[in-house]
Amino acid sequence: MSNEKLFNELSELDKKHIIHPSTNPKLHSEIGPKLIFESGEGIYLKDMGGKTYIDGVSMLWNVNVGHGVKELAEAAYEQMEKAAYTTTFYGYSNEPSVRLAEKIAKVTPGDLNAIFYTSGGSESNDTAFKLSRSYWDIKGKKDKKLIISLRRGYHGVTIATQRATGIDAYREFSGSGDPNIVNAKPHLTECELGDKSHPEYEGSIRSIIEKEGADKIAAVIVEPIQGAGGVHVPPEGYLKAVRALCDEFNIHMIADEIICGFGRTGKMFGVDHWDVIPDFICAAKGMTSGYIQLGGVIMREEIRDTFFTYDDMLPHGFTYSGHPTACAVGLKNLEILERDGLIENAKVMGDELKKGLDYLEDKYAFVGNTRGRGLLAGFDLMEDPAAGKPFAGSIKAAATVVEEAYKRELLIRPFDFTPGMNIVAIAPPLVVQKDEVEKIIAIVDDALGAFAKTL
Ligand code: PMP
Repeated sequence: MSNEKLFNELSELDKKHIIHPSTNPKLHSEIGPKLIFESGEGIYLKDMGGKTYIDGVSMLWNVNVGHGVKELAEAAYEQMEKAAYTTTFYGYSNEPSVRLAEKIAKVTPGDLNAIFYTSGGSESNDTAFKLSRSYWDIKGKKDKKLIISLRRGYHGVTIATQRATGIDAYREFSGSGDPNIVNAKPHLTECELGDKSHPEYEGSIRSIIEKEGADKIAAVIVEPIQGAGGVHVPPEGYLKAVRALCDEFNIHMIADEIICGFGRTGKMFGVDHWDVIPDFICAAKGMTSGYIQLGGVIMREEIRDTFFTYDDMLPHGFTYSGHPTACAVGLKNLEILERDGLIENAKVMGDELKKGLDYLEDKYAFVGNTRGRGLLAGFDLMEDPAAGKPFAGSIKAAATVVEEAYKRELLIRPFDFTPGMNIVAIAPPLVVQKDEVEKIIAIVDDALGAFAKTL
């Protein structure tokens, strides 16, 4: 069958049988899939139409080691041949899950030395909320149930994590959501430090703790660098201020490292940039570079030891908690990240990427606030970035630039979920090389030039 014929057949079947995530269902039912991927290697992805795209966002910022890494397929194959799946319920175990847990304990900061396995990011955050609340229960503090999250934070789509997500479309979808979650304003360093005269003190984490009462609050969840909210790097001192607040009021600090973890930002974890040790780290995505579904909640020893006093069946767990094949892939993925120096490469290439973005900021008056750490980068498109003046809502700047890049075979992501917001994110796989970063910048340059002509 010719590729075109196969594409058309799959497209028709897809339209009829699949509801796609984070996709416009009406439009999709009319036009079908935009791309049908066929294969990939390094930072490149081939589609059925015969084009080769640069994956400038590592798909969903998760394909850290790049596409087409055979060693990961082999690790999965070897484990599948032995026993593809065995459960970790009822005290059963398997070697890959034990080896990976030990390895993760070594690469996490401080005494974050025990893990509860999940199969993805939402499950990890959901589990962290439950473990935090349950920890306080065990300690006799049964009212500590509230979770504080931040506006613009993204934590997933389960009933609990959708409510922790500070992006209204996700937060409000289907009118459901865990009521025991409060959204705070992000990145108000002065407020977190207790400056009540600050005009935005209301709504800060500290003000919420004071209003609700620390005896009602289980945890604060933050991404070290916010991802889907538009790549926001916190000001210096912010994460330390959150840690200090959590210590002052006896509240858990949960770091959602689902994007930042496993090297994306040029360090193993995002919190490593600020030497902060949270109580829980939630991981997924880069844990297997997306080759197979795996996640986990990594916790400090004191929390682990508290659960060790719980003398009954722990009523929590997923069929795929500690999945041996997923863990075997996770173990090999970590080995590759370290052996091939990919975390250091993310730092060096991240600096190159930032240089390129700064050049574009100088060249185009409407490009501003280029930012990021390692290979997690973004910038704003605004009528006047210096004055903080956004484009009129009718100008779909981010979507246009991303579409122009797409036409030039580069995949990047727009963030424009509130009126006037136009952010573009770039996050290539950690194997990216200097000439490829230059290629990405050259394409973004052309895409910005094409957008400029529409103004
Ligand atoms: N937290 C963060 C920071 C994320 O970026 C995501 C996914 N984009 C999630 C949680 C949810 O992960 P998943 O989609 O695997 O459930």
